[in-house]
Amino acid sequence: GASAHAVEGLPGEDHEQRTGIDKLRRDAQLRQALDEGGIEVRYQPIYDIPAARVAGYEALVRWELPGNGMVSPAEFIKLAEETSLIVPVGEYVLDRVVALLSQLRDLGHDPLPDIAVNLSARQLVEPGMARQIVDRVERAGLPRGALKLEVTESRMLDYEPVAAVMRHCREHGIRFALDDFGTGYSNLTHLHKLDFEYVKMDQAFARHMFDSPKAMAIVEAIVAMAHGIGADVICEGVETQAQLQRLRELEVRYAQGYLIGKAAPASEVLSGEAARGPA
Ligand code: C2E
Ligand code: CA
Ligand code: CA
Ligand code: CA
Repeated sequence: GASAHAVEGLPGEDHEQRTGIDKLRRDAQLRQALDEGGIEVRYQPIYDIPAARVAGYEALVRWELPGNGMVSPAEFIKLAEETSLIVPVGEYVLDRVVALLSQLRDLGHDPLPDIAVNLSARQLVEPGMARQIVDRVERAGLPRGALKLEVTESRMLDYEPVAAVMRHCREHGIRFALDDFGTGYSNLTHLHKLDFEYVKMDQAFARHMFDSPKAMAIVEAIVAMAHGIGADVICEGVETQAQLQRLRELEVRYAQGYLIGKAAPASEVLSGEAARGPA
């Protein structure tokens, strides 16, 4: 009708209002999912290349909308960050991960795999966040190194508050990875100003390793640089044996991707099924 035509022609108030309403609806749905168990955490294996075994997992959050399939975390994490819902979402993921690590320990898994949780730098500097993380780890009596945090950044932040939180967590045995290195805001200044035990190379680079000499050169440069500052490399998006072989030659420590395994439910971590390694 006429009004629909007006919206198409002039992306003004009507459009913004609609977007606002969509967001409110999504926000309400996410609250409900948190209350009713519609949020799940899956675990994608991380493979220690020289040791030839799965050394840990990355926790990836999943939201299943009844009748609507999965909502990608790429979509709802952004929404949750705009509202205050990122706080309960983050707490939920941490609780699941600490519970799983405690179960694995109680079942006698030795060495205990480590599990990495994604946190935006903004989540990390949320008042009380560091204390909450440390309290959970201490209360569960987890060994040092069991919990890792993958820091993602969607915009620039002051470094000092981030560094202070990282120092506090590190005193309690928590280790840090800089996520998506080489893309977006995940850059050299972060590596310079903050300390990371791991650099996670974005999957874009491994994906194009063999079809672009430039991508290969960039992979090699990132690996050399990470090693130069004493960090281990975790390469994301490893889908083929050829990629894994090349990473082995470059002395990359960890590989993650569909070749090793997709994100699996906690039950498969507990049964060991998720730790089979590359096919
Ligand atoms: P990310 O941290 O870069 O996570 C890796 C994404 O790549 C995951 O998508 C994973 O399923 C996918 N992936 C892994 N291996 C492969 C592969 O071999 N090939 C391809 N094509 N893709 C692969 P996912 O689960 O959709 O997560 C998207 C993003 O959502 C994550 O990117 C992360 O930034 C964010 N995210 C997920 N869980 C959380 C969370 O609990 N908290 C926060 N703050 N962010 C989260
Ligand atoms: Ca990540
Ligand atoms: Ca990543
Ligand atoms: Ca990413």
